[in-house]
Amino acid sequence: MGLSEIRTAIKVDLKKPADQQAGLHNRWHPDVPFAAKIQSGEVVKIECVDWTGGQIKNDDSADDVKNVDLTKVHYLTGPFEIEGAEPGDVLIVEIQDVQPFQDQPWGFTGVFDKDNGGGFLDELYPNAAKAIWDFEGIYCQSRHIPGVRFPGLIHPGILGCAPSPEILKTWNDREANLINTTELKRIVAQPPQPQNVHAGSATGELKDKVGQEGARTIPGRPEHGGNCDIKNLSRGSKTYLPVHVPGAKFSVGDLHFSQGDGEISFCGAIEMAGVITVKLTLMKNGMRDLEMKSPIFIPGPVEPNFGPGRYITFEGFSVDENGKQHYLDATVAYRQATLRCMEYLKRFGYSDYQVYLMLSCAPIQGHVGGLVDIPNACMTLGLPMDIFDVDISPLGPAKKTDRGACAVASK
Ligand code: ZN
Repeated sequence: MGLSEIRTAIKVDLKKPADQQAGLHNRWHPDVPFAAKIQSGEVVKIECVDWTGGQIKNDDSADDVKNVDLTKVHYLTGPFEIEGAEPGDVLIVEIQDVQPFQDQPWGFTGVFDKDNGGGFLDELYPNAAKAIWDFEGIYCQSRHIPGVRFPGLIHPGILGCAPSPEILKTWNDREANLINTTELKRIVAQPPQPQNVHAGSATGELKDKVGQEGARTIPGRPEHGGNCDIKNLSRGSKTYLPVHVPGAKFSVGDLHFSQGDGEISFCGAIEMAGVITVKLTLMKNGMRDLEMKSPIFIPGPVEPNFGPGRYITFEGFSVDENGKQHYLDATVAYRQATLRCMEYLKRFGYSDYQVYLMLSCAPIQGHVGGLVDIPNACMTLGLPMDIFDVDISPLGPAKKTDRGACAVASK
């Protein structure tokens, strides 16, 4: 006899502001109250708002992306009490399915303004931009990037259990140290932010405490995972998450219809609201048995298959766009691979911002070529050629056609 019913552990209301829903929160802190309980071994559906809590609209202006309030992000669903969970256990998260809501079959990809969020290429492309994607079963396409259609590898960007008070202090100390010592003239990390804190059902002093101390959800962190943005955490995958507090306090959110490796714009996946179906199982004392310091995962057997030889692959090295030599810097190298791809696709009529958005969210393969051949790191970016309605191979006809426009905001 199988399951007679899969219950929904937390529902969301897309018509109600995210900060008024007790089943959501937007900071990592051990004192955010439990929002619901799940048994070990149980299969549940969990509803999620999009990561901004509905700030981005299905229209043709990027002003909402430009003016997005980043003190509010990310809205996660939870935290869930996993019955019997203790620090030192491992929580196995088996993702059975992820789907958009049937009354909201669309998502968005954004490039943030350099002065409000920024992103991978913000020195070169400082304006906010946006593309809306319409879902058709497993496929998606955008009126803002015509001639491109691809299947999504659907997944949550964020999965994790709450930090213990000790781990939270470690996070805040080491990130403050980076902020206080960086020589870079840009924002390098986000300290706790009391403004717009949402601590679930907490009010008063407890909510204030979460605001003063709670870690932002923006980076993934080694001790618990969090915002890892790994596109392969899709259907059929199993993630092994360290448990640091009694009851685990598991949260999930930031659902993506699709994402390229690297998610090069900060709002770069196809962001959506929807439902994730998970089976949550405890592995008692799993952290000790697996000698686990960071999450591990096993991808599922489902992913877009473009066939052998169907990727056009660009190389990038750690020599930046100004000709400066960097030492084995994989980020510089990946940026160069991205720029090479962008230059190539302009031959077919696409604009810089259209390609920037496309490379963030399409099923791009980013691989490490070499990290030892001093002084150059080598990274590769593989673009599936079959997502285009024309032949983009090097021997195909490079014909510029009218590719419309994505939404771009003024500076
Ligand atoms: Zn996301």
